[in-house]
Amino acid sequence: MRGSLYGASLLTAAVLLATACSWRPSVPISETFNSMGTVARVTVGPQDRERLPQLTAEVHKEFSTLEDLLSTYQPDSEISRLAARAGQAPVRVSAETYRVLELARHYGELTDGAFDVTVAPLVRLWGVGLKPPDHVPSPDEIRTRLQLVDFRRIELNDGTAHLPAGMSVDLGGIGKGYAVDRAFDIAGRLQIDSAMVDLGGNIRTVGQAEPGVNWTIGVRNPFEREVIVGKLSLAAGMAVATSGNYERFVELGGRRYSHIIDPRTGYPVEGMAGVTVVAPDATMTDGLSTGLFVLGAAKGKELLRRVPSANALFIPDKSPIEIWITPGMKAVFVPLPEFSSSVRILN
Ligand code: AMP
Ligand code: MG
Repeated sequence: MRGSLYGASLLTAAVLLATACSWRPSVPISETFNSMGTVARVTVGPQDRERLPQLTAEVHKEFSTLEDLLSTYQPDSEISRLAARAGQAPVRVSAETYRVLELARHYGELTDGAFDVTVAPLVRLWGVGLKPPDHVPSPDEIRTRLQLVDFRRIELNDGTAHLPAGMSVDLGGIGKGYAVDRAFDIAGRLQIDSAMVDLGGNIRTVGQAEPGVNWTIGVRNPFEREVIVGKLSLAAGMAVATSGNYERFVELGGRRYSHIIDPRTGYPVEGMAGVTVVAPDATMTDGLSTGLFVLGAAKGKELLRRVPSANALFIPDKSPIEIWITPGMKAVFVPLPEFSSSVRILN
């Protein structure tokens, strides 16, 4: 497994239905592989079991191609070249990279800058990824990096991208979701009726688990990873992603810091334990879950009024557990009985 900007995030959602079970033809089966610094799982329903190896192979190839383009850990990736040429000259990029940058800008605008891929210098400063820093960053160090954060300054023109001097881009908050949407397209091209693709907790369904039965996944309790707080029932084609402070964090001076940075302050986000978003595509769920993690439930709820197709579930970082859901989530999320009294509706 290559080092990658996507880091070692673990699966955030337990796949409830899907386990490899070759001796029982009536259940879904899955294959896993490592990609983008995390675990990928491709699952198919019983009717498509013969197609699993082909689907997995094609999805794996696509994920590797995208990682080679988008990773900040590969010095020859297009995203690394973009940073290397910042302030010098526009870089001609592939259609895929161009599209991901456009989508990153879109989710930057939609979240009023809470999601901002130019947060990369701060991600490095706080040691999210490979190398933890030897000290807690100083206000001065943070201020200097903050001047390099503004997704609006990414110039996209006719297949080329350009960054102002010193700026760089980190697609760790959106690249996996984009990749899962490409996997969804591959399943469509292969005429697969029933599948689910999971890349480090970014999930999209193809059809249903079996005729008349939705795919179901669990939402983890951020305070107790082995426990789920409830289940999500995903209609055909729907996506889900979770941004959680339990997946990845930085430990500095005896404190834990989140791997998600607030681009307005330059500090890791505090007060949020997990945000799960359900929406029609995985790029949207990936971008929004990261952005909503920054915004929190109250502001996030306002934002979601502008995105009626998306629903969210927020778990603040406090005890006892509270599970805040948007009204539309009621039709999708079923809490386990022991957590039902913790659920609150964000009206
Ligand atoms: P996710 O796990 O999808 O929420 O993405 C988190 C990753 O996105 C981090 O590990 C960083 O690489 C990157 N990131 C951190 N903060 C932000 C932010 N405010 N906007 C966009 N990407 C971010
Ligand atoms: Mg994300």
